[in-house]
Amino acid sequence: MLDINKVRADFPILSRTVNGKPLVYFDNGATSQKPQIVIDAIAKYYQEINANIHRGVHTLSQLATDAYEISRSKIQNHINAKFAHEVIFTSGTTHGINAVANGFASILKPGDEVLVSALEHHSNIVPWQMLCEKTGATLKVIPMDDNGELIMEEYDKLLSNNTKIVTVNHISNALGTVNPVKYMIDKAHEFGAAILIDGAQAVPHLKPDVQALDCDFYVFSGHKMCGPTGVGILYGKEAWLNKLPPYQGGGEMIKEVTFEKTTYADLPHKFEAGTPDIAGGIVLGTAVDYMNSIGFDNIQKQELELLEYATKQLLEIEGLKIYGTAKEKTSVVSFNIEGIHPYDIGTIVDKLGIAVRTGHHCAQPIMNFFNIPGTIRASFSFYNTKEEIDVMVEAVKKAQMMLS
Ligand code: PMP
Repeated sequence: MLDINKVRADFPILSRTVNGKPLVYFDNGATSQKPQIVIDAIAKYYQEINANIHRGVHTLSQLATDAYEISRSKIQNHINAKFAHEVIFTSGTTHGINAVANGFASILKPGDEVLVSALEHHSNIVPWQMLCEKTGATLKVIPMDDNGELIMEEYDKLLSNNTKIVTVNHISNALGTVNPVKYMIDKAHEFGAAILIDGAQAVPHLKPDVQALDCDFYVFSGHKMCGPTGVGILYGKEAWLNKLPPYQGGGEMIKEVTFEKTTYADLPHKFEAGTPDIAGGIVLGTAVDYMNSIGFDNIQKQELELLEYATKQLLEIEGLKIYGTAKEKTSVVSFNIEGIHPYDIGTIVDKLGIAVRTGHHCAQPIMNFFNIPGTIRASFSFYNTKEEIDVMVEAVKKAQMMLS
């Protein structure tokens, strides 16, 4: 059982006020708040062991390198990767997706197909469009239904021997739909296609097991799972990472450089050119430890309760419609009130100390599907409470009265 008061005390920001009201932070889908242990670990790195990694023989450089590599192993264990060198540090999900899409430019030819889902964040659409423009491959879209669920019969029909890579998020940021990724991975493999899972919205809620999933790539950002911004992970199966060319050239990623030819370093360094966010990489390990100390069973139980409670309370408001009514859903409620622009509601509730996201959530195709300019999105974390939901529901009612 989660001791919610104790958990909230871990997050200093949760006790601040915004516009004179206690902060109600429901924008966890955009980024999570950070526990004190993570904030302290960043300072500790700079105070005690700051040095560049993988370079110096001096003691500080070795201490920093060890801490960085220990963090990589922690993340390997967390996602159950077979090898630590399959875990590549990136600057975030966007970087991970671009690295893979860029690598596929050396593989794809005209006539090849890339499948993306209708539920994607722009960062899992645009890199694939750029790839198709570069290679002459064709981008095809796995459609969704009115509940915001991908239509698996259509996916099955779209797959063919021309499909070279499928890309889909584990959980949708705009609607909260949990996608049937295991089914999609197995199906893609039946056709010899690779598959990338965008886990940006999954890692705050669950512990992905990349070997059980058998995905070829799994990408995520640290900042959505209690870690710092500027760091993320690209997991790739060893064989794929060996096959793909590096994304960036520079220091650290080479074996030997002459003006005639450069040979690349072994994994993971081949994909880690330049000085990374060293503190971020180390502290992502701290964040993973923190999430595990809370326990993903506890996290899921708390978030499911919040989702059910918020859904019920919000639906009592006249004219309110929730977008995304999938059977499998995480703690996101995306909604609109008839006749009112989502931005206007967002602005009023902010005055009351409540942080929700308004707009298209970097998923314009989803908004176009529903023929709406955007939604108000409340995304809950394990540190949120039902009392906070009550505050939001009252604020939304107030906004509705003021605006209609
Ligand atoms: N994919 C999904 C599903 C996301 O929710 C996000 C962040 N909103 C991203 C990709 C991009 O993540 P980042 O901005 O951290 O690179």
